[in-house]
Amino acid sequence: MKKRVYFDHAATTPLSKMVLEKMIPYLTEDFGNADSPHAYGRKAMQAVDDARCSLAERINAKPNEIYFTSGGTESGNWALRIGAYAQKEKGKTHIAVSAIEHHAVLETALKLEKEGFSLTWIPANAQGKIELSAVEAAIRENTGVVAVMAANNETGVVQPIEGIARLAKEKGCLFFTDAVQYAPYAPIDVKKIGADLLCFSSHKFYGPKGCGLLYVRNGIKVEKLIVGGEQERGLRGGTLNVPAIVGMAAAYEENLATMSASNEKIEKLRALFLSEISSIENVKVNGDLENALPSVLNLQIEDVENAAFVYNMDLAGVCLAAGSACASASIKPSHVLTAMGLTEAQAKSSVRLSFGKNNTEEEILQGAAAFRETAARLKEF
Ligand code: PLP
Repeated sequence: MKKRVYFDHAATTPLSKMVLEKMIPYLTEDFGNADSPHAYGRKAMQAVDDARCSLAERINAKPNEIYFTSGGTESGNWALRIGAYAQKEKGKTHIAVSAIEHHAVLETALKLEKEGFSLTWIPANAQGKIELSAVEAAIRENTGVVAVMAANNETGVVQPIEGIARLAKEKGCLFFTDAVQYAPYAPIDVKKIGADLLCFSSHKFYGPKGCGLLYVRNGIKVEKLIVGGEQERGLRGGTLNVPAIVGMAAAYEENLATMSASNEKIEKLRALFLSEISSIENVKVNGDLENALPSVLNLQIEDVENAAFVYNMDLAGVCLAAGSACASASIKPSHVLTAMGLTEAQAKSSVRLSFGKNNTEEEILQGAAAFRETAARLKEF
């Protein structure tokens, strides 16, 4: 029986062994509640403080600009709400959000609209890019927040966030960028980007699941998220997930140190996969691969339904996605691909592969062979 192959790193990544080792003490002997005043609590809080300082330093922020959350979804929800409500106090009640955001941000935008904010979707071009001119056209006199993700989770297309941040600032708007997919592949400097709000999620860079970071630039009023205890400066109650926070900081550090070599390796694996499937007719890449993360490959396979394709590939031992993991249970066509101008049928015949640093050439060859065979078989229907 052939080895199972994993090409879904944009959905999640395996935990690094080094990270697990750093976490184990905080799951076992150093199990204290970080808010307890005794020795167990102090040890746990010291670990949280160290993680906060380490992450802050690496993204060029101050420790008090970092909030720990349960992941990218929570951070994205909170970030957009913080931005919208902080600006509402200045009479700015319009938000401009890219049409290709993850559902965590899309749904928050829709919720804010129900709460009385007005909303403009910033369109993407056919290559999956949010152009500066589109952002400019979406900004109004009363726009409070501009939200554009750093890299898209379905196509991997990297957005011109520094330019968008500059434009937002010029127009008096706050800029929020969801860097959940970007953070595993590019160093983050919040000052260089010009982000007022930024988030990422630990499990995308070989850290534990259920842990995320939100950066909020000092000077922005932070809307309370969870009422309860005094954790996270009284703005997000709840016992801190110390092992995960320690794990996220360790994973971020390790990933940053190995990033450039991993990126090179992953990009080569992706190129090999593409060349191995080049004999299949009518397969098209969705999005601008030249300006994308090294890991993601979104492919349109004419006349093949993506749900059936993913299911058949799974039977062949190859794990990939029909879209983003969070939407994979739904049969709706991808909002990202339709925003790029694909028809519903084209979107429904598109699949996402996302390679990782532990993949091997052998796996690529095995996966590509299964891809060729499955595409040929399903086209016959
Ligand atoms: N934002 C983007 C761009 C994502 O790709 C994801 C997850 O796939 C999220 C947010 C949600 O992150 P989490 O799974 O940590 O809630």
